[in-house]
Amino acid sequence: MFELPPLPYAEDALEPHISARTLSFHHGKHHKAYVDKTNELIEGTALEKLSLIDLIREVAKDKGKQVLFNNAAQIWNHDFYWHSMSPKGGGAPKDPLAQQIERDFGSVEKFKEAFKAKAIGQFGSGYCWLVLGANGKLAVTTTANAETPIVDTNQAPLLTTDVWEHSYYLDYQNKRPAYLDAFLDHLVNWEFAAANFEAARAEAA
Ligand code: FE
Repeated sequence: MFELPPLPYAEDALEPHISARTLSFHHGKHHKAYVDKTNELIEGTALEKLSLIDLIREVAKDKGKQVLFNNAAQIWNHDFYWHSMSPKGGGAPKDPLAQQIERDFGSVEKFKEAFKAKAIGQFGSGYCWLVLGANGKLAVTTTANAETPIVDTNQAPLLTTDVWEHSYYLDYQNKRPAYLDAFLDHLVNWEFAAANFEAARAEAA
């Protein structure tokens, strides 16, 4: 059975950019509900023995298991999102990730513009990601609802932001661009992205 992974920082650690109230609902209620529902759906089945990533990949292939896919993927997506932010976030990435961003986007500023534009353009709920493709190139992608790049083994996610309204509505109401500015300027965890980048490159080598 899965457990709600703890936040990697205190609920008030991202203030004033994301409030403790938002994190208490987003982690304590939304994320927890995905864990509880997943456990309810796998209990007593053969799926109970799978790791979270194996479970997500397994049920992604089965249209009859859409509800389970949605809930299991949301456990993983949220944990990845929490780690994509840090109370000491923002700033700029270091080499070699910085060099690759400059190569693939032109500059870190241009990457931020591309990421913000894609995240704003995601209609309705979903996520915006920085991924490293199997072709060795970085790309910004979006997924709808609970969809997640980990079902596609041709890309490794490095970073994400949650653009479901529950991520920002209490703090920014409908102003998704203001939330994304806060994410990119003050919260984004470049050390986490760099660790994922190194791991993906080591796996590809
Ligand atoms: Fe969320």
